[in-house]
This record gives sequence, C-alpha cells and structure tokens, in this order.
Amino acid sequence: MIRLDGVGKRYADGTVAVQSLDLDVRAGELVALVGPSGCGKTTTLKMINRLIEPTSGRILLDGDDVTHADPVQLRRRIGYVIQQVGLFPHKTILDNTATVPRLLGVDRKQARSRAAELLELVGLDPKLYGNRYPAQLSGGQRQRVGVARALAADPPVLLMDEPFGAVDPVVRDRLQGEFLRLQEEVRKTIVLVTHDLDEAVRMADRICVLSQGGHVEQYDSPSNVLGS
Ligand code: ADP
Ligand code: ADP
Repeated sequence: MIRLDGVGKRYADGTVAVQSLDLDVRAGELVALVGPSGCGKTTTLKMINRLIEPTSGRILLDGDDVTHADPVQLRRRIGYVIQQVGLFPHKTILDNTATVPRLLGVDRKQARSRAAELLELVGLDPKLYGNRYPAQLSGGQRQRVGVARALAADPPVLLMDEPFGAVDPVVRDRLQGEFLRLQEEVRKTIVLVTHDLDEAVRMADRICVLSQGGHVEQYDSPSNVLGS
C-alpha cells in the first residue's frame, strides 16, 4: 500500500534528516515508527503526505508514484493526526470535522451528517459536543476530534504522529484501547509515529526501529523486536 524506495530528505540548511529509507507497509496494517528524537520519524510521515518534498528516492501509494504529488490531492487518500491537533478555534466541533470533505467539494449538509457519524464513532455524542468549540473540550476529547477529522474523507491511509502524546497516562491508555477497537471497524493502513515502545508494542502489527538519519535498525513483529 505504501512503499518508500531509497527516500531521503536534506533540509535547506543542509541537515540530512533521512538518508535513504526503504519501507513497505501492507494494506490494513498498522506499522509503528519508533526511534530516538531527531531520527527522522516526523520527516518521514510528512514526506508520505507530501507536506515535505523528498530530495531523493520514490514514494508509491497503492502503486502510484506520489513522490511529487499535489498534497491537496493526497487528502482524499491520506488522513493525518498530530499531537497538537490544529482544530480551528472559531469553528464548532462538527464544522471542524467536516472541513476536509467541504474542501473536497462535498455539500455542507452531507459533510455535516458524515461528520456527526464520525464523532459518534470516536465516542463523542454529536448532539452534546457537535456545537461546542475546541476550547470547551478536554485534551482527550480534542484528540478524538482529530481522529474523526482525519477519517472524514474516508482515506485508506492514516498517518499518526504521537497522536496520544499530549494527554495524561490514564486518558492515553483509554484512547489507545478505543483506537484499536475503531481500527477493527475501519481497517485503515496506518503509520504511527511514537517514541513510546510500549505503545508501539500494544498497537502495531509491525514495528520499524529507526536510528539517526532514518536508518532502519529493525523491521519486525512486536514480539521479535522485544525479543532481540
Ligand atoms: P523525529 O520526528 O524523529 O524527532 P524529525 O523528522 O523531526 O525527527 O527531525 C529529523 C532531523 O531533521 C533532526 O535533526 C531535526 O533537527 C531536523 N529537522 C527537522 N525539521 C527541519 C527543518 N525544517 N529544517 C532543518 N532541519 C530540520
Ligand atoms: P478527559 O478525561 O477526556 O481528558 P477531562 O477530565 O479533561 O476529560 O474533562 C472532563 C469534562 O470536562 C469533559 O466532558 C469536557 O467536555 C469538560 N471540559 C473540559 N474543559 C472544558 C472547558 N474549557 N469548557 C467546558 N467544558 C470543559
């Protein structure tokens, strides 16, 4: 589903964040990218959804070369969830969730009804929360909105960058469990960036361990990564 062939990123200041990364993620699989701070995890995710353009190599999405694709076009195919979900403060939760379908041309009524279904799916009653504003939600609830919003265009692929990093351990534990149940329903192809090995072991089908420069140290099942 996602294939990286010798992908590299050198930033304008000369920093080589990722040297030459090969990675293969199968359809419906959840792969966790783990490794020390600065090893290129976020850069790798952002190259997949083209927020950053690779300086070398090739990225294939379901067989299509998307290395230099238009990031707006990729929104239909790739959802993105980050730690500090950038919700629009002056839009309601419902309108925040409906944003991407609206940008993609879905009419307002349809986008809002889909958004309500998704809020339900992530455990937020749309009648209770749909008309609230982001500041009126807890951190955990905002993360759920972030997941609902990423699912709104029904993309086959989800990229998640420390999605549960900003909430306290009890909420994190609950969100991880809920997300795993959600994934059983929606079956997306997921790349999850985390510095938390426990989270990777709990959530992932395979774990990719990176070292500085985006070098793959190991790419294996959680039990084999733990056992080594
Ligand atoms: P991680 O997500 O694993 O912590 P990043 O992908 O954020 O790592 O960063 C990888 C490397 O690239 C780091 O050395 C970081 O300082 C550098 N880097 C990240 N963004 C930029 C940028 N915009 N310009 C220059 N260097 C950057
Ligand atoms: P969680 O365990 O999901 O992080 P919290 O303990 O932070 O939840 O919040 C509990 C409740 O308080 C939630 O129902 C949330 O909607 C409500 N709440 C949190 N912050 C605000 C706020 N600024 N205004 C209104 N309600 C809030």
